[in-house]
Amino acid sequence: MNDASTHCPDMGSAMNILTNHPPTAELQRLDAAHHMHPFTAGAELAKKGARIITRADGVTLTDSEGRTFLDGMAGLWCVNIGYGRSELAEAAARQMRELPYYNTFFQTSHVPVIALSAKLAELTPNDLNHVFYAGSGSEANDTNIRLARHYWSARGKPQKKIIISRKNAYHGSTMGGASLGGMQPMHAQGGLPIADIHHIDQPDWYLEGGEHSPEEFGLERARQLEQAIETLGEDNIAAFIAEPVQGAGGVIVPPETYWPELQRICDAHEILLIVDEVICGFGRTGNWFGTETFGLRPDIITIAKGLSSGYAPIGGSVVTDHVAEVIDNGGDFNHGYTYSGHPVAAAVALENLRILQEEKIIDRVRDDIAPYLAEKWGQLAEHPLVGYSNICGMMASLALTPDKSARAVFAAERGTAGLICRGHSFDSGLVMRHVGDRMVISPPLVMTRPDVDSLIERAGRALDLTHRELIDKGLMVAA
Ligand SMILES: *Cc1c(COP(=O)(O)O)cnc(C)c1O
Repeated sequence: MNDASTHCPDMGSAMNILTNHPPTAELQRLDAAHHMHPFTAGAELAKKGARIITRADGVTLTDSEGRTFLDGMAGLWCVNIGYGRSELAEAAARQMRELPYYNTFFQTSHVPVIALSAKLAELTPNDLNHVFYAGSGSEANDTNIRLARHYWSARGKPQKKIIISRKNAYHGSTMGGASLGGMQPMHAQGGLPIADIHHIDQPDWYLEGGEHSPEEFGLERARQLEQAIETLGEDNIAAFIAEPVQGAGGVIVPPETYWPELQRICDAHEILLIVDEVICGFGRTGNWFGTETFGLRPDIITIAKGLSSGYAPIGGSVVTDHVAEVIDNGGDFNHGYTYSGHPVAAAVALENLRILQEEKIIDRVRDDIAPYLAEKWGQLAEHPLVGYSNICGMMASLALTPDKSARAVFAAERGTAGLICRGHSFDSGLVMRHVGDRMVISPPLVMTRPDVDSLIERAGRALDLTHRELIDKGLMVAA
């Protein structure tokens, strides 16, 4: 803090800058000077300045210039109940006054963590009845690596260590989470993956299905798990991990044949199935969990994001009676986070779950708003720039293409068209994200039909503007 010119004169009082903030340009200057952004090229962002979001209500964001946006991403796939629910603010304030923090390490517990655990045992399917808490989805997946390996160790099979995952999966950004994930640009930084993680191919029919029908392709990709088990040896494998629907990978809904075959393979072999429900959980697919939508029987699920609708950072691993029994009888599990089961986050999560349940938000997703969104989203697939659309509940994608008849990809660098479309989308008042040249949405579950109409209208405008710009720049060219 030597360079006086880069720090704010009002910083002596943090409340002052929060309640009466300086103009956008000043905030952008301070942001560029002192804040390092995730998944961002800092120098590039510093040149144009970050967009600064100042408030939100329902499904609408407001920035520091007073512009409003329909939040087609529910923040980062997490604000399931929408913004501005004061009940959650009150739950947090009440808990902070009562007991702002206490740990759960030293044979102690507290009321919010007990209540939340019992609630999760009730809401999660089958005999997933035991929760180990983390501060995020990434941490929970790190826990899962240790849980799965320790489980086999406690059963006298310490050599069962390998965890099989998939290319283009997303399981978080910690060393463990990013290793489980199959994102090449992440592996390239920091020497990942860690040892004993093996990746098989993803079920992305649009980009990788070639001449196969989606059904054939789904079976083929699922059977890669069986081949990997044969090659690596069942005696060396602890678990298989996957998201029911890949989220950050581009909302890739697998072919219908895929999950039943994977479940069959997991049943036929002595390996744990870890289902990463961080996005799919808490209503996004039209059921409480993606596990129910796809008929899965996991041994462990990962939860975060929608657990608190993003109002407080909290994640966890929910395990079956059987897994818990083995771990509980395996001596000390030498693992935990200062904020495992944080009382304020737990109180907020509990209130979020109460709202999801009492307001029947997930029933409404399944019976009304997701089918309505699916109908309208499908119409966007008619657009000349769109090669394929995918939707599952309230998560959806559009693959942009220079030639819709051929499932073609662009000659331009991957992500060029997607980035242009994201810009036009923002300018049209819609937050829509791009993953390569796929556009994705994951809006709050509380969207109304008029909200959906407005989302579709703005997405359509963004597609039109993108199409025109790609033509003007000579980029409607297939690779
Ligand atoms: C976001 C995400 C994670 C990581 O959660 P964080 O809270 O960002 O650490 C893990 N798995 C999936 C499927 C996710 O989408």
